[in-house]
Amino acid sequence: MVRIFIMALVLYLPFYAHAWGFYGHQKINYYAVFLLPPEMLVFFKPQIDYLAVHSVDPDKRRYLLEQEGPRHYIDLDHYGPAPYVSLPRDWQTAVAACSMDSLVKYGIGPWWIQVMLERLTKAFMVKDPEQILKMAAELGHYVADLHVPLHACSNHNGQLTGQHGIHGFWESRVPELLAEKEWDFIIGPARYYRDPLSLIWKRVLQSAAAADTVLRIEKLLRAQFSSDQVYAYEERNGKLTRQFSSAYTVAYDQLLNGMIERRMRASVEAVASFWLTAWINAGQPPLRSLVRHPLGGDALLSMQQLEAAYKNSPIKGREHD
Ligand SMILES: [Zn+2]
Repeated sequence: MVRIFIMALVLYLPFYAHAWGFYGHQKINYYAVFLLPPEMLVFFKPQIDYLAVHSVDPDKRRYLLEQEGPRHYIDLDHYGPAPYVSLPRDWQTAVAACSMDSLVKYGIGPWWIQVMLERLTKAFMVKDPEQILKMAAELGHYVADLHVPLHACSNHNGQLTGQHGIHGFWESRVPELLAEKEWDFIIGPARYYRDPLSLIWKRVLQSAAAADTVLRIEKLLRAQFSSDQVYAYEERNGKLTRQFSSAYTVAYDQLLNGMIERRMRASVEAVASFWLTAWINAGQPPLRSLVRHPLGGDALLSMQQLEAAYKNSPIKGREHD
């Protein structure tokens, strides 16, 4: 009986399966467009809806491909205490030191961003509008993911500390409630990164350093609220849903002292800067005359496969990444 009750409770718990949530990723790519210089804006601005909508394709791909999951995170605490000296930052050296299997097991987020940056740079070089947009939208996803503290930590959904659901709470519930109403997304222009890999390492180390606070503060807050104050039936996407209550969500955000807004702003700035860096490294090709054609052939087929897997298949790999 108790077991059935616990199962029922788990099924009712708020469930957000995607880093930054779909909402957060879409907003981050959207806002990033406005940080671009006019030479890029001329192509990116008319495609802003594409860039927002397809920001979440990498999360959908986790229902299709086994190898997709580890591209979204890195469990830095697996490598000992900060600054994780046993983990080389360069891919080849890391493979030699830790083995490919082990790296994949604990996440390859920082290095996958390098791969995506190269793909976007190539797409700019050959001036392929579809590839530029696809790679830009997806690069934005991976860059934003590594700004989330629980993407840099093995206790990624509070599963080791009895805080199941905290992943979606931090990155979906709080931004959905507060980002549009209260947060500021006026951010300076995109910057060229001479050394993109070290920038992403800097950001992921910040994420890892913040993970402890994300977990500790929630535990602290939980002790001050009764369980019927923690959860409430409130509207989400037009439906009455049992989720973390607004009062609890606002209190958590206040105790975090603006952390989630800062990480979201840093994500926007980094996404735009990675797009700019790829364009500059490609020799700043003129984008004015590029036209995106509707998807056809193989591209359309793979998009349909992605949607079908996302709707009908179980996730491959860990939840809440
Ligand atoms: Zn992700």
